[in-house]
This record gives sequence, C-alpha cells and structure tokens, in this order.
Amino acid sequence: MDLPEKIENLSLNNAQNSTQTKREDYIGWKEYFMAIAFLAAKRSKDPSYQVGACVVNKENKILGIGYNGFPIGCNDDDFPWGKNTPSPLDSKFLYVCHAEMNAILNKNSADLNNCTIYVSLFPCNECAKIIIQSGIREVVYLSDEKAHKPMYIASKKMFDAAGVNYWQFIPKNDTIVIKFT
Ligand SMILES: [Zn+2]
Repeated sequence: MDLPEKIENLSLNNAQNSTQTKREDYIGWKEYFMAIAFLAAKRSKDPSYQVGACVVNKENKILGIGYNGFPIGCNDDDFPWGKNTPSPLDSKFLYVCHAEMNAILNKNSADLNNCTIYVSLFPCNECAKIIIQSGIREVVYLSDEKAHKPMYIASKKMFDAAGVNYWQFIPKNDTIVIKFT
C-alpha cells in the first residue's frame, strides 16, 4: 500500500469511528458515588451494620471515603463487636468510628466546604455534628430505617437549623455488578 492509499484508509476509519455513539448503560454520578459508599462498606468488619460514606465536591471529585470501624491501632480482633453486653465497655458502641467520621477525617483536601456526603444509612446525631462542622452542605442517603430513633430525629433537627440539605437517593437498579474478568 503506497502512502496516499494509506491516508485514504485512515480517514475512512476515522469517519466510521466518528459515527459511533456513546454507551447508554453507563452509571450516573449519583449512582457512582453511592456505589462507592457501598463498596467502602464492604471493608467493614462489623457483623451487624456495614456503612459506607463518600464525600464529593461540586466538581464531582471525591475528597474522602470511609466505613465504620475501630480507630487506628485498636485491633479488630481485640475490641468487641457485640451490642447487648452487661458492661458498655464490652460492646462496640464506645469504640467504633462511623463511616461519615472516617470519610471526613480521611479527606485529601484542606476543607470540605460546600461538599456533598453520600451515605448508605442516614447519619446519627454525632456524625451530623461532624458533617455540619466540616462545612458539608448536602447529605444524600439511601436508607433511613432508623428515622424513628431520637438520635436520628436530632440529626434532622440540626441539619434543618444549620441549613444542610438532605434527600434520599432512589437507585434506578438495585444492583451494580463488578466483574474482574
Ligand atoms: Zn454516626
């Protein structure tokens, strides 16, 4: 094949490629960030609740990811995962860091002003305080199954007072499949 013929073939290929349209089954931003929160939750060792969180800025860049777990240096095998123990020192509650706290403390940016946090479960009152103080202005949650409990009612009271917007994300599909092949 001489050179002019080569060039002609190349331009023909380009013309064919340019008529291709984009994929239609890609995931949207909101679905993507919520899926990242759910993927992070897979890292949790908590036998009863696995929660994940993902903090995103206005440019759709991820600034922090977290899941519920014990603080650094507090061994997963030494600290308790139980709930209804006679002594509170033997249950998880005094020790576990929630996903939201970890996502905020793991941030790779100077501040989280005007960011959005995606969470698999509506934040408790302690995380609501941290979210508000961090400058996050929007909470996107999937489950609100504990809404009747006082600590979650307190969260909403604080979010309302502080002007933090919150809304429930309803996914288009209930699964996203990840294949390594
Ligand atoms: Zn919390």
